[in-house]
Amino acid sequence: MVYPIVKYGETVLETKAATVIDFDTPELNKLVDDMFESMYAAKGVGLAATQIGIGKRIAVIDISVGEDPTHKIVLINPEIMAKEGAQTGEEGCLSIPGFREQVTRAQKVTVRAQDAKGETFEITGTDLLARAFLHETDHLNGMLYISHVSPLKRDLIRRKVRKLQKAGEWG
Ligand SMILES: [Zn+2]
Repeated sequence: MVYPIVKYGETVLETKAATVIDFDTPELNKLVDDMFESMYAAKGVGLAATQIGIGKRIAVIDISVGEDPTHKIVLINPEIMAKEGAQTGEEGCLSIPGFREQVTRAQKVTVRAQDAKGETFEITGTDLLARAFLHETDHLNGMLYISHVSPLKRDLIRRKVRKLQKAGEWG
């Protein structure tokens, strides 16, 4: 099932998501499958549960955008363990469509998480994958990428979004 993506302005996006306690349940497996489906439908490389209105610490990532199943990553209760270096590049978010900003992030990131069975694992990514780990983990902490841009740019985005909301052109 494809969920609609929750847009910037909804409280769930700026609320810390709850730790997942029950693993290996049909509900969790279904939710993870639906999250991949929703992410591919929206042509994203990452999706946090909060972006479909579910306040649970679950994120899915696939930097191949569905081209290579070995790239599918499920992060449940993720925690950033290590960050190294820096990269600056354009970042966007499915919840803030139509906007992209330069964001500086660590170049190499190690994350510890659980899979849908509850097994703990660590994974290290560089470049886009490192960026995705940070972006999605931020989401689960109620933080959006625009909190990493200058206050001036953030205000500009907020104002543009407000205009779109008033015009009924924002979900
Ligand atoms: Zn996002």
